Amino acid sequence: MEDQGAEGCIFCRIARGEIPADLVYEGADVVAFRDLNPQGPAHVLVIPRRHLPSLHEGGDDSALLGALLLAAREVAEREGLGASGYRVVINNGPDGGQTVPHLHLHVLGGRPFGWPPG
Ligand code: AMP
Repeated sequence: MEDQGAEGCIFCRIARGEIPADLVYEGADVVAFRDLNPQGPAHVLVIPRRHLPSLHEGGDDSALLGALLLAAREVAEREGLGASGYRVVINNGPDGGQTVPHLHLHVLGGRPFGWPPG
């Protein structure tokens, strides 16, 4: 999972509208779209439009990082998950299971999720 920058980044390309995605939320700085390989009835990825490789290497723009969390909450609300509950996950780096080097939050819902994660 080598970061090759914004140019060829698949999530940057989705944010720029260059490749199709099933968008569920669009804000000034944040976009959310359905995961291609959903791990539950609801599985949405929330990303910054700006290329940040990961949470750990995502800088210190607390307004943007906060906007991602608020967008995750809004997505959960739009997906009807507010009452049943949902999980928000950020995989970071190799041990965290991150496969796409563009910061993203997974919003998962529609079924119970176990703990601890695998
Ligand atoms: P992670 O393993 O945390 O890096 O998650 C990357 C996620 O991106 C996986 O759940 C993939 O299924 C998802 N994914 C990869 N490419 C696309 C795409 N073009 N559109 C939607 N989801 C994607």
